[in-house]
Amino acid sequence: MKVLKFGGTSVGTIQSLKNVKQIIESLDQPAIIVVSALGGLTDRLIATAHAAARNESDIKDSVNQFKTRHFDIIDALIPAYKQQEVKLMVSELLDQLEQIYRGVSLIGDLSERTLDMIVSFGERCSSIIVANMINGSKHHNTLSFIKTEKWFNRNIADRTLTERNIKEEFTLPLNEHAVIGGFISEDRDTHEITNLGRGGSDYTAALVAAALNAEMLEIWTDVDGFMTSDPRIIHDAKIIDQMSFIESMELCSFGAKVIYPPTIYPVFHKNIPIKILNTFNPSAPGTLITDTIVSKGIPKGISSLNNMAIISISGQLTTNVAEINSRAYNAMARNGISVFLVAQPDNDLSFSITMRDADAPKAREALSIEFEPEIQSGKVETIEVETGLSIIAIVGEAIRQAKGLGPRLVNTLQRANINVKAISDGTSDTTIALLVAQEDVTESLKLIHSQCF
Ligand code: ADP
Ligand code: ASP
Ligand code: MG
Repeated sequence: MKVLKFGGTSVGTIQSLKNVKQIIESLDQPAIIVVSALGGLTDRLIATAHAAARNESDIKDSVNQFKTRHFDIIDALIPAYKQQEVKLMVSELLDQLEQIYRGVSLIGDLSERTLDMIVSFGERCSSIIVANMINGSKHHNTLSFIKTEKWFNRNIADRTLTERNIKEEFTLPLNEHAVIGGFISEDRDTHEITNLGRGGSDYTAALVAAALNAEMLEIWTDVDGFMTSDPRIIHDAKIIDQMSFIESMELCSFGAKVIYPPTIYPVFHKNIPIKILNTFNPSAPGTLITDTIVSKGIPKGISSLNNMAIISISGQLTTNVAEINSRAYNAMARNGISVFLVAQPDNDLSFSITMRDADAPKAREALSIEFEPEIQSGKVETIEVETGLSIIAIVGEAIRQAKGLGPRLVNTLQRANINVKAISDGTSDTTIALLVAQEDVTESLKLIHSQCF
């Protein structure tokens, strides 16, 4: 049994949905189909929510536009005898949405909780439409089995409960296609609607594939496969035929938008292959991601992450750098802050950690508390924050064993007057990560891509 996930662009228009229908109906056995909201709709739902809170939105008009977009698809793709029934289901959902917008507008405030409720309507509507568009399929309600728990102020999947629920929800072998909305979830304690984060439909599909030991997870999107870099920045980026789970995981956690980062882990753990395929060019071979390592010591792809900050701690750290390092790490973990890069120049006088810009103030405070005794005794002299940075990741199995590659890339950038602010220490054998000013990121990516490929 396969799990197929179709992203927003794949379910964005009548034409693209015709492709989706054809792809699913030509499968030789029933599959689980995970769909995103209609392309661009999640952004619109959010924008309308903010406008409602500021009292700047014509709510009726916006919701009518959402209705028209869904109804046009129903008219074009759903058999006439079912159209009224499906329209009624979508209408009921969008009427609820309208009421929520009115509430937001009335109190002039938009809480995270309400926003989570609002964005859920995208996948709730699209999944009903796709289920009714595909011959021999049944709609399943994602909210009844994908459960989240609170972690700091985020919602994260409760993997154990979710796995158990998925096994109960789907009886194998399937006797018809099962269609579900991606992204959306429900808090296991409060039963409020939550979600798995922007781009989270990929993760929904991975959770389902892993729980049911699917033979394959197919991510259907709008490009011919995983590419050597973001094709919107690097116009001559090439399709990667095959890559390892670790390579894809590293590229995605460093910004390759083609798969939502947490997606890889559950399927990797179960050794379920992933294929990246193009809804608009279904015969293209795509990219196969497995545990096979096809090459070592050469770059597979590069990616980048913006809005990063570096915090540098300096002083007489010589005595026990390893201990200071691990204390800094633990302080970040206790505060729910992800560390993307650790760098330590050879001089033992400083070390630095990189996190999201948004986490920098909290990280600085946590480090000041952690190193209070060293600050008092003068061992730690400064804790400095620099924001507005980008990480560039050069990824490939055993790439750190490629002699001199890191220094060579730094050199290339320096010759173009681009200052490399940090280079990762051996945290991963698969990634060389460089930190540059965000304004230099595009130029840096181009230079590195042409040097690597
Ligand atoms: P979907 O709506 O199908 O989930 P996304 O927009 O989330 O699609 O992801 C696909 C997009 O990811 C592509 O259109 C492409 O612009 C972008 N992208 C960024 N980096 C890469 C990469 N390395 N390889 C392929 N696509 C990439
Ligand atoms: N619709 C959601 C988003 O736009 C989830 C997804 O597309 O994966 O982020
Ligand atoms: Mg996506």
